[in-house]
Amino acid sequence: ASIFAAVDMAPRDPILGLNEAYNADPRDQKVNLGVGVYYDDNGKLPLLAAVKAAEAARLSQAPARGYQPIEGPAAYNNAVQNLLFGADSDLAAAGRLVTAQALGGTGALKIGADFIKRLSPAAKIYISDPSWENHRALFEAAGFTVENYPYYDPATRGVDFAAMKAALLSYAPGSVIVLHACCHNPTGADLTDAQWAEVVEACRERALVPFLDMAYQGFADGIDADAVAVRAFAASGLQFFISSSFSKSFSLYGERVGALTIITAGKDESARVLSQLKRVIRTNYSNPPIHGGALVSTVLASGELRAQWEGELAGMRDRIRAMRSGLVDALKAQGVAQDFGFVVHQRGMFSYTGLSAAQVERLKTEFGIYAVSTGRICLAALNSKNLGYVAGAIAKVV
Ligand code: PLP
Repeated sequence: ASIFAAVDMAPRDPILGLNEAYNADPRDQKVNLGVGVYYDDNGKLPLLAAVKAAEAARLSQAPARGYQPIEGPAAYNNAVQNLLFGADSDLAAAGRLVTAQALGGTGALKIGADFIKRLSPAAKIYISDPSWENHRALFEAAGFTVENYPYYDPATRGVDFAAMKAALLSYAPGSVIVLHACCHNPTGADLTDAQWAEVVEACRERALVPFLDMAYQGFADGIDADAVAVRAFAASGLQFFISSSFSKSFSLYGERVGALTIITAGKDESARVLSQLKRVIRTNYSNPPIHGGALVSTVLASGELRAQWEGELAGMRDRIRAMRSGLVDALKAQGVAQDFGFVVHQRGMFSYTGLSAAQVERLKTEFGIYAVSTGRICLAALNSKNLGYVAGAIAKVV
């Protein structure tokens, strides 16, 4: 018999499965609100002009393709730190930062998880309830037990902060707390600045290990404003982890550009931490690919391209905001009695709409509108052409 005869069929990824069903749907007016990808007002995946310029310059030089350092190039890693902590970071000056280029945000989480497994194999991992669906799977695959901390409260459509804080204060020292630094996926509900300060204090009090997932910097209020949580932890003196992703902010999804940053207690510790992190990387994929990272560091190093990129990022952010208020207005205009005003206050790409699984199913079968069964929709998949159709369909199912 084949050595694979006993291999079971794995369950389909729920969101990628949605894409397959959408692609197979013959209806002209179909809309895919399931994906976590930014589309422009024509429903197209953009190639940012700043990225295009950096790419043209790079390709015109026809550069050779040698191996990169295991942790990626210093220029890239410094650019990552600059986005996270600002230009004149005390942490960088104190030698407290270890950054390694990684294969997207997912790759950053994975090398972080593998590093923590070596450091503290019995640590428990806590993720928000709910969270990005890959958080649990990724940390479990790294050998950890993963549990949820209370987060979203459907009654208020916000964060049940009292429950979250009480839970944090009950966890064993050394537990790893995965936090969405901004633009919470899937709910769109973020903590306030004051609540972040309390989370920092809870982590200090219980000696918890914060792991901030920064996948959407710039999608809520801007580069610096969205780094509030990162900078609150930076000011705390604690040690922590950050995964960065440039998939969304540079529209470089398939290039797999991200980074892991570890904030240590000091220079000597940083050298030792980096040496161990390099072992993790070396045994996974040896060293990161060049192209996407080079585009990001080129854009960030050039005053002109960086300004252009910030403008394009602001354009994406503003368009999503316009779709939020546009959806709320269109639902009102359709005579929907239920108040959807909360959609305007949610942040980032997603909204937990409160639509039930049955309503989501009706959107699909009757209208060819695809959303996640939890009621999560991606606002960045709405545009001036499909907004009215989507609002009309939602009006019919609520
Ligand atoms: N973390 C969160 C919260 C995300 O939403 C995503 C992407 O959807 C990622 C990490 C992964 O990003 P990447 O595509 O760069 O691996």
